Amino acid sequence: MTTIDVTHDMNATSWVESAQGSDFPIQNLPWGVCSTNGIVVAIGDKAVVLRKAINSEKLQLADEVSNALLQDSLNEFMSLGHEIWTLVRHSLFTFLSGEPCPEVLCDIDSLTLVLPATIGDYTDFYAARNHATNVGKMFRPDGDPLMPNYLHLPVGYHGRASSVVVSGTDITRPHGQLKPDDSAPIFAPCKLLDYELEFGAFIGTGNAMGTRVTIDNAMEHIFGVVILNDWSARDIQKWEYQPLGPFNAKNFATTISPWVVTTDALAPFRTSGPPRLESDPEVLEYLKPVTDDVLDVQCTVTLSSATMRNDGIEALQLSKTTLANLTWSFAQMLTHHTSTGCPMNSGDLIGSGTISGGEDKDTRGCLLEITWRGTEPISMPDGTARRFLQDGDELTMHAWCESEVASRIGFGTCSGVILSAT
Ligand code: MN
Repeated sequence: MTTIDVTHDMNATSWVESAQGSDFPIQNLPWGVCSTNGIVVAIGDKAVVLRKAINSEKLQLADEVSNALLQDSLNEFMSLGHEIWTLVRHSLFTFLSGEPCPEVLCDIDSLTLVLPATIGDYTDFYAARNHATNVGKMFRPDGDPLMPNYLHLPVGYHGRASSVVVSGTDITRPHGQLKPDDSAPIFAPCKLLDYELEFGAFIGTGNAMGTRVTIDNAMEHIFGVVILNDWSARDIQKWEYQPLGPFNAKNFATTISPWVVTTDALAPFRTSGPPRLESDPEVLEYLKPVTDDVLDVQCTVTLSSATMRNDGIEALQLSKTTLANLTWSFAQMLTHHTSTGCPMNSGDLIGSGTISGGEDKDTRGCLLEITWRGTEPISMPDGTARRFLQDGDELTMHAWCESEVASRIGFGTCSGVILSAT
């Protein structure tokens, strides 16, 4: 069980002076991987290179733990389990608040960050009711916007791990089969390219095939959380999605932020999800939440065109919302996912689904909702309009947690620039 401990002390500071007030104070300690130095932990504008810290004996860890941290991905460390993750968090906290030892650090700006883990499987859910309701209203204007199953189980689909990329990777506009209203299908570049503001949970410890993860300890299996952008080709999606759900509309790219913020760091920001309505059905016993397992993470989305960046015009904020809007928590998603005995492995990724707030347009998590299928275009500061993403557009997501009783911690950013179809 995650508890609040000394590593969450608001008054704790690090000898890395840039840590204080940054996205990565000593209370955060998010994990990443860089192409030349292997596993790193962010602190202010620096990163602890685990390889250097272990070799210099500044971190005293059991051999099994040290070996896992000398790898080029986090999978092995993730597989060691929550107790070990917490123990290493405490060791890093002690090290970074003790005697200065700058020789094990490097500048974050000098790092080429890569995917933090080898992602074997990726599943994307649809767990924010406001998003599902908005999409339902658009596509099924008559009748209940939510499908009959929506409030009984977290709906998801098996995504494509091979196209999950780290923030900063350019995204090429995909080709696909499109069906104009008045003609036969054509094969052409996607015209209705969109983003989806989501979060991703990395599975730390998995489950053997045939066994289930139960709701009361599902959070123990989750190593940490990243920002996730589920790039979506709406025109491809519209033509292909029935009857088996998303396929090529989603498989060309998914971007995640490079730093994994651990469930331990997020402990002060756990909350209960939005209240269910009196008319809502009761969830079945195996999905009943037993803890406050929804996370209150604030997030914003900004958009800039190539012209805006050339002219030094600040990016336009499209929306601001919170992960606390999630109707189904990551714990419930994982429990449902494994309820058949489906095995999960260390490094598997589950996406939350698009996070949208309530009625307000500026809390919606994708252009489909913000422009209401393109019928209400956005005015950009460079004088152009947006219904969907244009070539050269840069889409950036920021996320952070803040409260009166805990230090603010940040996730960094998740961004990508759209390149023209090739
Ligand atoms: Mn999605």
